[in-house]
Amino acid sequence: MQRLHDLVGAEHDLAEVAREIRTSVRGLGASGVGGFLVTCSDESEHECAQAFQRGFALEMLPRLKYGERVPFRIANPGARYEWGAVQIAENHFATAEARRDSLALVVKINGHVAATQTGASGLRFGSMERYGDDSVYCGAVDAVLNGATVPFAADLRADLLSEGTDRLASLQAPELASDGRQALFGALALARIQARKCVLDIQDHVPAAPTVYVVMHGVTLNKPGHDSELVGGLYVLDHRGAARTERYHGLGDDPAAYQLSAEAGRVHVRDPQSGRERPVRDHRALAARRLEALSGAAPSLSGDAHGMLGKLTSAQGGGKRPVNRAALKLALAALAAASPLASALVLVAEGAAEIHHARKLDQAEAPEVQERLARDVVDGVRARIDDLPPELADRLAAALVREFQRTTPSA
Ligand SMILES: [Zn+2]
Repeated sequence: MQRLHDLVGAEHDLAEVAREIRTSVRGLGASGVGGFLVTCSDESEHECAQAFQRGFALEMLPRLKYGERVPFRIANPGARYEWGAVQIAENHFATAEARRDSLALVVKINGHVAATQTGASGLRFGSMERYGDDSVYCGAVDAVLNGATVPFAADLRADLLSEGTDRLASLQAPELASDGRQALFGALALARIQARKCVLDIQDHVPAAPTVYVVMHGVTLNKPGHDSELVGGLYVLDHRGAARTERYHGLGDDPAAYQLSAEAGRVHVRDPQSGRERPVRDHRALAARRLEALSGAAPSLSGDAHGMLGKLTSAQGGGKRPVNRAALKLALAALAAASPLASALVLVAEGAAEIHHARKLDQAEAPEVQERLARDVVDGVRARIDDLPPELADRLAAALVREFQRTTPSA
């Protein structure tokens, strides 16, 4: 992966990026290869898609029919990742060939921005000629920066405000407006955030074949001549063995830290962390740590609820008998009534709640929003308790018992 790491933070030809992906994936020695491309719907992104098709897909992917070898694709305004999509792609490419040994699945996520030269040295981003008129690239990012409220813009806006960082305010700083840098930084930060969403989905998924995932993100620089690409970063998630390794190398998600420079006629963007590889965040582990931190504020439960603890514990029979689902449901309801957040964090940490809930819970700042989201998580899991796999139900019962033991009975 070193060759892909060397591309991070700098502008490269689209064909060169596709070639380096191909070479690096070959080096992984997997028996099957899959590809997944996420781009904006903008017709200007055809060059980016074509480079991935010619430089990677045609050479590496299994044959779909006749001579066609094509990636799984999302194209929507703003290049938004959609929850659950990578699991479908993985399912498709986990062919008999891949299952024989292992699958290497490449996910490439591209935002885009117009990049033009003004005068001798100046770069300008965000708009360029299209069909004889000046036109905005990317229109979706521009819509968010200008306060549009259509659903795609609301999704992108929520991403820019996620996890307690107001990236929208940083992007709207006047000093970024003079050269259209907000369009470049906005596209870079959003592509980075989409990549992380995809990674959360991967972390939460058991692949059909031993799988190594390469999730790259970047921004296509749409130009009057050939387009190029600014590589933002890459995740390598090796889920081929029991001990998973997950590393990230590239830009962070805060555009306030981005530094733009032009070196030898090529655009570079760096932040203080972009030069070094680091481990990947695990939201389930984060939820477990938040739960620990809540321990100072143990909720108080009614005497009845404490009676339920006994039932759940005896129903568990020291882990030998299958957990009583009805008791589990009651115990969850009792704990949720006293502390929705603690209950939701238990569900996230144990893997009973879907991972996109984990991220939402992490992002919510206002206590009332947090409580509403927590109640949604609890309600969602309660509705599915009878269908939870036995080992998950056991784990959940044990975790709820631990939570009960921290609570104090009230009169
Ligand atoms: Zn666009």
